[in-house]
Amino acid sequence: MEFVSTRGNSPSASLREALFLGMAPDGGLFMPRFYPALDAISLREPQGQEWDELAGAVLAGFLGDSLGTETVTNLAHRALNFPVPMVQLSERVHVLELFHGPTLAFKDVGARFLASLLTHYRNPSGPPVTVLTATSGDTGGAVAHALHGLDGVRAVVLFPDGRVTPRQERQFSTLGGNVVSVAVQGDFDDCQRLAKEAFRVEATNTTDTNGILTSANSINVARFLPQTTYFFYAWLRLQVFFKTRTNVLFSVPSGNFGNLAAGLLAKASGLPDTSFLAATNVNDVVPEYLQTGVFSPRPSVTTMSTAMDVGNPSNLDRIVHLYGRDFGRLRQDLVGQRVTDEETSSCIGRIHRETGYVPDPHTAVGLVALEKHLELHPDHVGVVLATAHPAKFANVVEPVIGEEIPLPAALIRCLESERQVIPIEPRLEALQEILGD
Ligand SMILES: *Cc1c(COP(=O)(O)O)cnc(C)c1O
Repeated sequence: MEFVSTRGNSPSASLREALFLGMAPDGGLFMPRFYPALDAISLREPQGQEWDELAGAVLAGFLGDSLGTETVTNLAHRALNFPVPMVQLSERVHVLELFHGPTLAFKDVGARFLASLLTHYRNPSGPPVTVLTATSGDTGGAVAHALHGLDGVRAVVLFPDGRVTPRQERQFSTLGGNVVSVAVQGDFDDCQRLAKEAFRVEATNTTDTNGILTSANSINVARFLPQTTYFFYAWLRLQVFFKTRTNVLFSVPSGNFGNLAAGLLAKASGLPDTSFLAATNVNDVVPEYLQTGVFSPRPSVTTMSTAMDVGNPSNLDRIVHLYGRDFGRLRQDLVGQRVTDEETSSCIGRIHRETGYVPDPHTAVGLVALEKHLELHPDHVGVVLATAHPAKFANVVEPVIGEEIPLPAALIRCLESERQVIPIEPRLEALQEILGD
């Protein structure tokens, strides 16, 4: 597989090049040059019902010619070693729980696959690899955990100081060792901009002695591609569950839009009978774009679903690229829905009262959006991607449900450890001082 830039001004890259470059030299994002024609139904046959096996088969469609089918299968098996349960909340509402990895958020999926690919390609006698990651909350923990303790790899996590929850911050800032946590005095967009600037400088720096700089943001194809797999998995589970061919509406709680772009790529690669809902909080530049055709990025505002507080989502480029700029066709597959904090918290309370289920605030945004749109899709069954465990957002969820959420063991461990962060102004020079160390 070759990877092309969404901006179309860079030569195509191999998987290895795309992995280490992170972003294409022209500032675009890498996308696979072609989309494999996967047959969703037959994917199930030899692989059984296990997610990691199915994921291996889906990823082999993209990466089999680069790595060999067996290697892809092994990497998927090693990285995606946690369950993805599907919970039914009502006749037509299902929740796909993507938060059973080590940091209790769906970002473990991409981060762990990226880490296993880095170890596969890394030259043990070559220069060290620095993985620079901007996080709005969950990416930092997922990437830091996936890379922690790997030889010859250093993880640098940029996060907006005070804008991620204390628990999210603990998940990366307590690891130490090869993980460096940087508290940027600004918002997530500042962090993302700093990371982009650092990569741009790196790309033009030919006398580099500090080793390789790469990104582990959702812009990296190695994180992006494995996210296609659970759309196939959920779709197949529902075909089995309903015993007849079933149309599926995926509600994707979105911030930087990597998850949703991966769903649309799954559709382009053979996932049939599927439509998508871009569920956002009031940071609604994409729902607005889908309605008006005008994309106007703006500074993000803080909400209770903090991991989705993104004012200029990078992965929209991938979505536009996928549809060849055919806006009409995009709108057939994708609608947007903006959800307020008030709707989010009342949804958490109501779902808990009615079903006993406790969604986290991001998942609740997806649920509200789905409830608004399922009526318009009378022949569809809805799936909300549950992107985080509610215990990560206990500060929001517990007052609403009036109960304590039991802490998963993984969270207890990092809450008990010492926090280590380096504060910086949102300027490139300040970041470079840390990277140059
Ligand atoms: C990152 C994140 C999202 C948004 O995912 P994108 O791929 O950036 O759209 C949603 N929910 C949670 C819990 C997240 O961590």
